[in-house]
Amino acid sequence: LPEEFIKALPIIEKIEEAGFEAYFVGGSVRDIILDHEIHDVDIATSAFPEEIKQIFKKTIDVGIEHGTVLVLHEDEQYEITTFRTESTYQDYRRPDEVTFVRSLEEDLKRRDFTMNALAMNKEGNIIDLFNGIEAINRKEIVAVGDASERFNEDALRMMRALRFSSQLSFAMEEKTKAAIVTHHQLLSKISIERIYIEWIKLLMGESRNQGLADFIETGCYECCPGFETKGEKLKELLLFDESQRIENEMIAWMFISYNLEITDVSGFLKKWKASNKVIAAVKEGVQQLKKRETEEWSKLNLYQAGREIVSYVEKVRLLINQASDEEQNVRLYDELAIKSMKELAVSGKDLLSYLEKSPGQWLGETLGYLEKEVVQSKLTNEKDLLLKRSAEFVKEMF
Ligand code: ATP
Ligand code: MG
Repeated sequence: LPEEFIKALPIIEKIEEAGFEAYFVGGSVRDIILDHEIHDVDIATSAFPEEIKQIFKKTIDVGIEHGTVLVLHEDEQYEITTFRTESTYQDYRRPDEVTFVRSLEEDLKRRDFTMNALAMNKEGNIIDLFNGIEAINRKEIVAVGDASERFNEDALRMMRALRFSSQLSFAMEEKTKAAIVTHHQLLSKISIERIYIEWIKLLMGESRNQGLADFIETGCYECCPGFETKGEKLKELLLFDESQRIENEMIAWMFISYNLEITDVSGFLKKWKASNKVIAAVKEGVQQLKKRETEEWSKLNLYQAGREIVSYVEKVRLLINQASDEEQNVRLYDELAIKSMKELAVSGKDLLSYLEKSPGQWLGETLGYLEKEVVQSKLTNEKDLLLKRSAEFVKEMF
């Protein structure tokens, strides 16, 4: 057993001592079989949330209505979820109600894919009621039970299938894929926040092109904001070598916005409910990518972009087979005389007292002028020099 599981064994033992069942479940069991790195160790149990809270001293209610309690154990935290079924799904999204049950089988049945419907007991024996191990060995994504029914219950599962196709380099089993083709439109019922998470994981996966090809072929792209009419443009993404991996969501969105020729990047990302931080970064990045089509980085562009975006722009250029030199351009950024207005050797206050003028439009413009000159190394960043130059500038301009 990998170390992450051994550390969690006392939790399973304590639950069993109290007379309940407990197993490792979900992605972490799949990842052991695949010999992949384990992210989070999830535990499922026949004990109800209130019973778990009596067994462990330190717990946090994270999603108690869904049956999940967080247990703190030796600096780690574990999500312990009561076996449950998700009864009626009337709106293709979340279950109307979850029912806690005492049977592991019932719990495994409601899981999305056979590879994710595995449980493992504390001895390391795997409980495989749906041939999940076989699916993993064949590298196949297979819905548990009837694929159409499962996507009707929760349409997000279709996006999860595409994401796993990219992340794990698994192929979708024929019926599972056919059901996505049939039901892709149900995706429009799903909140964009949930789709977002799967979409970014898809782009960051090792088999990005396979995930993207499935995303296009199944029609799922038609239900994603900004992509409705971009089927052909999306296909062009498949021409880029996927061995260049996408490292984070900013790079992912820059790659997408630039190649799909999205004109209103903010509007596009707002529809995806991206954070303001992401929107600002991607917008700037796409502008710089366009400038980089025809010119090398200027000092002003480096300054305006900031270190992070300089590096992302070069990474995107590498992704799309454009000449790229991240190291060199980040070094040029690091060599800039100042990195922000705060580092300018004079402040607004300095100018006010030196020039004995009252505040006005001239002040911001003069500071902006000095900032530009210093960034471009036309002036050195020395207080006396900048004060003198500011007097000349004000005399010329105002
Ligand atoms: P990752 O390695 O990315 O965490 P994961 O398979 O662990 O992948 P999670 O989102 O962490 O995915 O979910 C944990 C488990 O919960 C899954 O393995 C699956 O059994 C179940 N699950 C998650 N989302 C769904 C869903 N929408 N429908 C059914 N089962 C789900
Ligand atoms: Mg997980």
